Amino acid sequence: MMSNIATHRPLLSLFHFLLVVVLLVIVLPAAAAAHEEETCEPGDTPVGRFQQYLRFNTAHPNPNYRGPVSFLASIAASLSLQIQTLELAPGKPTLLLSWQGSDPSLPSLLFNSHLDSVPVEPSKWSHPPFSATRSPDGRIFARGAQDDKCIGIQYLEAIRNLKENHPHFSPLRSLHLSFVPDEEVGGFDGMAKFVESPEFKALNVGFLLDEGQASVGEEFRVFYADRAPWELVIKAAGDPGHASRMYDNSAMENLMKSVEVISRFRESQFDVVKAGKASNSEVISVNPVYVKAGIPSPPNGFVMNMQPSEAEAGFDLRMPPTTDPELMMQKIAQEWAPAARNMTFKVIQKMLFHYSCITMISFLCSHYYWLEMPMFIHCSLCVIIKKGPLRDFMGRPLITATNDSNPWWSIFKQAIEAAGGKLSKPEMLASTSDARFLRRLGIPALGFSPMTNTPILLHEHDECLKDTVFLRGIEVYEHIIRALTSFEEVESV
Ligand SMILES: [Zn+2]
Repeated sequence: MMSNIATHRPLLSLFHFLLVVVLLVIVLPAAAAAHEEETCEPGDTPVGRFQQYLRFNTAHPNPNYRGPVSFLASIAASLSLQIQTLELAPGKPTLLLSWQGSDPSLPSLLFNSHLDSVPVEPSKWSHPPFSATRSPDGRIFARGAQDDKCIGIQYLEAIRNLKENHPHFSPLRSLHLSFVPDEEVGGFDGMAKFVESPEFKALNVGFLLDEGQASVGEEFRVFYADRAPWELVIKAAGDPGHASRMYDNSAMENLMKSVEVISRFRESQFDVVKAGKASNSEVISVNPVYVKAGIPSPPNGFVMNMQPSEAEAGFDLRMPPTTDPELMMQKIAQEWAPAARNMTFKVIQKMLFHYSCITMISFLCSHYYWLEMPMFIHCSLCVIIKKGPLRDFMGRPLITATNDSNPWWSIFKQAIEAAGGKLSKPEMLASTSDARFLRRLGIPALGFSPMTNTPILLHEHDECLKDTVFLRGIEVYEHIIRALTSFEEVESV
């Protein structure tokens, strides 16, 4: 046996050699292509740093905040920015970076982004959601690619380019970057606490840029207001009874009447949108999100011959800042959940107070909408959770002017044009962002994420952003930073 093997070894070796050559010819280019397709750029490029940031799993319910904060701080250190890490809630750091201006007496600029992101269903993704895989056409796939880790890195890369390519440029006003936790769960341990902190007050912020949304067209979108979300739960009570009997005021009947009334209101708002008189974000949206009723009959059915004594439904409401919250509360109390249908409610509150609201506790029952974030009204039959304010501390709607009355707006708009871009008609954000916490303080704030020709994929499976769009955004921010930090007027806000 041994000699036979020895005899055939040269032939086998030749065969193996040819096999290896063939494999090298076939496999190596394919492997190289796969490498190109699925891995990242070297870490020392803007796209590489974007990919590194995306690889931190900051999705709820257990976002990793420590990793990205130290990563971002190391970038900031390389750019000689001032670095502060604030622990305003346990385990939830806020990173604050500063590029000091030559005149610190002038109101400063704050560019914000949030560290966290919404959860993922990995099985629904074409690439692992924290791999930051770049496809051959340049799309970078990751949760947070659009919402909103792109802007966080773009701010830093724009500063890098300004420092490296324009050594004679130095900002007149200070520019601060904040990276806050928990935006996706209401911002109460993030921006809400940050704006109350002495560190924030020391910044003397005159203008805020926060996240916006992608644009499917050529024009950049910009947002001047957010809608305030309310969560409404209506519970109906009634006498139980045999399912064969017709009687008034059963829980289900009462709930269904409310659902009909609410549906009619929804249609009236939606008709305005369909008629082209307002955009989706400019009306009050109300959408049913759950209905809970029935007497369970294990294993998975319901008792069919009994009318239940309780029934409830949940609704998501979104209010433009132009909404009168008191009128809305009246509508809910009188039409949507009226006493006449066993749906009365009393106000027993559990809330976090805004400092300016402490003195208003005595007005609680009649002016509860002044109590800002988050406000919970608990009662036996109806629960309303107000997650955001509609008015600023002066009682004005939370809207940032997008006309010449707001000098920041004019400078911002000119900077976009100088970058070769165009803004579409300013919009109200259909959802909510941290900008509302600064608007509430009377600070002008715009929502802006420089993504054109990009499908809107925030919170969706396969969230991604094209590398060319990401890189273009850096240029846009360079123009914005130069223009806003050089702006001499506006001594105070
Ligand atoms: Zn976001």
